Amino acid sequence: MVFDFDLIVIGAGSGGVRAARISALHGAKVAVIEEDRPGGTCVIRGCVPKKLLMYASAFAAEAEDARGFGWDIDAPRHDWAKLIAAKDAELDRLEGIYKSLLANAGAELIAGRARLVGPNSVAVYNGDGKDGGVEREFTAERILVAVGGKPQLIEVPGMVEHAITSNEALDIVPLPAEIVIYGGGYIALEFAGIFNGVGVKTHLVYRSDLPLRGFDDDIRREIAVALAGRGIILHSEATVASVTADAGQKQITLSNGTKINADQIMAATGRAPNTKNLGLETAGVAMGRKGEIIVDETSKTSVPSIYAVGDVTDRANLTPVAIAEGHAFADSIYGEAERHISHDNIASAVFSQPPIASVGLSEADATATYGKIKVFESRFRAMKNTISGRQEKSYLKLIVDAASDRVLGVHMLGPDSGEIMQGIGIAVQMGATKADFDATMAIHPTAAEEFVTMRTPRAD
Ligand code: FAD
Repeated sequence: MVFDFDLIVIGAGSGGVRAARISALHGAKVAVIEEDRPGGTCVIRGCVPKKLLMYASAFAAEAEDARGFGWDIDAPRHDWAKLIAAKDAELDRLEGIYKSLLANAGAELIAGRARLVGPNSVAVYNGDGKDGGVEREFTAERILVAVGGKPQLIEVPGMVEHAITSNEALDIVPLPAEIVIYGGGYIALEFAGIFNGVGVKTHLVYRSDLPLRGFDDDIRREIAVALAGRGIILHSEATVASVTADAGQKQITLSNGTKINADQIMAATGRAPNTKNLGLETAGVAMGRKGEIIVDETSKTSVPSIYAVGDVTDRANLTPVAIAEGHAFADSIYGEAERHISHDNIASAVFSQPPIASVGLSEADATATYGKIKVFESRFRAMKNTISGRQEKSYLKLIVDAASDRVLGVHMLGPDSGEIMQGIGIAVQMGATKADFDATMAIHPTAAEEFVTMRTPRAD
């Protein structure tokens, strides 16, 4: 059978662009279909814009701290609209880079919304549903689904009508005076830090007793203290019962009866795979309970000609993982030999203020898997926080397998933890032992040196 392309990639996000580019460089005839802006979630409405906004808001605390170091900074003011315009210009630049990456590799970018119509066919609709639009059909020997995920709202009265998600929060102008952020995951904490930093009265509402379910419990306890210390109003063990709106103001009623009047509510209550109306059922692709595409270690779905990478497979929903999966797919199919990536020991960061980073297992997971473990921890006021007057503490934790001495998990809350954890991730991935950490000379004076100087395990 003659196909239009060797490979059609649906979605020009992190995983799709990498897979398309590398496949094309290996010599495949590739098309990428994108319904929105090339770059995908990370570049257009995720990692990149949120980190730019995070940098902007973090200057507020820097200015406060600077006073203790002798700087005379009188009531700094922030221009939010100017920041959003600068951020948008940077996203335009990055979108252009993504387009040229594809073009330079020889992959064809097709604008429109794709739908599978068979194991080797994709229909692409390029209208907005109102203007008629045109539907074209393309065939390929293989199809790679890399459509990512989207915010999921909890169905309570008024939520869908009145709440924004991270998508809109990144563009919100004017800045609200008061905001409720619903959710205790990393996106909720990052946006709480952004808004709080630029002076918005910020509420964080979450169901558990502590934020960041799934993270190490000590980190969860420490971040709750730090967020409250920064002025974020925490509503733990609470859910949003209803949202109403009146004259631009939103009334948020919590399950515990608390009523908050705010200018805005942002729902950060999880993300779902983007698999609705994608024709997966028609093509016979098997999906899991959350609508995620089920794949094997080569990213192949239940249909041999259809593959999937990235958030749509709900393996580890992070950009470097989507990129690695896309690259391994391209090398395996169009390169020299099949190769798989490991989903173990993925280091990651939460760009809350202060930030968190970790690699490997939490204490609870390590205990459940290995039984006897040793925990080394250090809680201290970083040197910068001494004469700045900031009371905030940093927290570092090492979890070690008692039998083999291997370091199973490393966790940090404190400035630069994301930068620090990348290097630690290499050590953990290589199977470093606590003795290896101990044999490593410290860099002094740093906070990270605690990772190689902790000698006494916590007495349990
Ligand atoms: P995506 O990047 O989501 O790309 C999917 C693309 O498919 C999109 O461009 C979409 O428009 C397109 N598409 C969808 N359906 C169709 C269709 N039917 N037809 C055509 N095109 C379609 N990860 C990190 O590693 N670090 C971070 O700091 C981080 N921060 C984040 C912050 C936020 C607010 C969010 C929401 C996510 C963040 N992530 C972060 C997660 C990261 O963005 C994702 O893991 C990553 O983008 C997944 O890449 P992907 O290729 O699977 O999908």
